[in-house]
Amino acid sequence: MTEQTTHVDESAAPGLDAALDALARAGRVIVALDFDGTLAPFADEPSQVGALPGSWAAVLTLHRAKDTEVVLVSGRPLGSLAAVSHAPQDMALVGSHGVEWRVDGHDEAALTDDEVARVARIGAALDEVGARYPGVVIEHKPAGHGVHTRRVSAEVAAQANADASRAAHEADAGVLERGGKDIVEFAVRHVTKGDAIVRLRELHGADAVFFAGDDVTDEDGFRVLGDGDVGVKVGPGETRAGFRIADPAALTDVLKQLARLRATR
Ligand SMILES: [Mg+2]
Repeated sequence: MTEQTTHVDESAAPGLDAALDALARAGRVIVALDFDGTLAPFADEPSQVGALPGSWAAVLTLHRAKDTEVVLVSGRPLGSLAAVSHAPQDMALVGSHGVEWRVDGHDEAALTDDEVARVARIGAALDEVGARYPGVVIEHKPAGHGVHTRRVSAEVAAQANADASRAAHEADAGVLERGGKDIVEFAVRHVTKGDAIVRLRELHGADAVFFAGDDVTDEDGFRVLGDGDVGVKVGPGETRAGFRIADPAALTDVLKQLARLRATR
């Protein structure tokens, strides 16, 4: 059978083609993928976010391929990730940067009752701060909360973040603070995408891991990759990933090649 062979653009990511070939020959492989900015381009209207059709077709091929486990690993809460991705029930999902898991069709609530109570206290304190700053949005997540300051000036953002930090620490002395782009997160657990990938590797007895992501929090994932794994950074910014591609559209070619290699081995 002759088939049109898709190869990734070697000039853009030298060595990626060969690395994918080698990874595809491994026994059990995990394909871990961030969603927003990686499978899905950013959209002005969050409800219109969706994976690129070519990427998603490749994801479904990989999902059906033998000894190949596809996992979507996102900062979104699990429910939101399931809704925007339209992932099949038997596809593994990891939400909230590794706190929430859906494996084998079962949701896993990883928080203790005490942690749930702490999250609620912190959330109530942040809501009071949010009410004083029009344009600042408090996003409630299962293991913590995000204070979004994209829509306010840098001065207002700095003041709001300082107030939020003080309020959160008064509400809960053990609260963990993590800054991102136009967001500060206050959580009860410091779980990273790296922790999630380590656990996935154990869970599936994987011989190799492919991981692609676009954001600062994805660096925790690239950090736990080793020999034989392939990390792909999508877009600009500093990275520890072995390879970089331009955008989600370029990831489509990478996933197509990986899917072809895994489906025909
Ligand atoms: Mg992302």
